[in-house]
Amino acid sequence: MIARRTDYPWLLLDIRSSKTKECKHTKEAVPDLNPRLTTKLLQLNRSKLRTVVGMITGHCPLNKHLSILGITDSPLCRACMETEETPIHVMLQCNGVAEQRAAHLGSSATLHEALGDLGGLLSFWSELGWLE
Ligand SMILES: [Zn+2]
Repeated sequence: MIARRTDYPWLLLDIRSSKTKECKHTKEAVPDLNPRLTTKLLQLNRSKLRTVVGMITGHCPLNKHLSILGITDSPLCRACMETEETPIHVMLQCNGVAEQRAAHLGSSATLHEALGDLGGLLSFWSELGWLE
């Protein structure tokens, strides 16, 4: 069954509440029930929602995920080439995009914090252009 747009927040809640060690990325991004984030997600258009859900799940066109799918040879970050290119690395740690991060995301220390400003998160990825 294909998930409808309005199913995504509930799917995230289902993943978050599971007891397995899977979906570590999602559990870190959405550690608690968050009606405010859910409301914000439901107001996004399809393209923006895809970007945010990709950041939450880690299933997005960044090198770590693309290498798991066999689409690229290297999981390394294209900006620094020092570690795997994941949403957490790029949005919170990468020195190669520090200037863009400071301009759009401020000083978020966690992915959960970065999700508090969806406008900043979306403008950060739009400026990088890595998800297009
Ligand atoms: Zn990097």
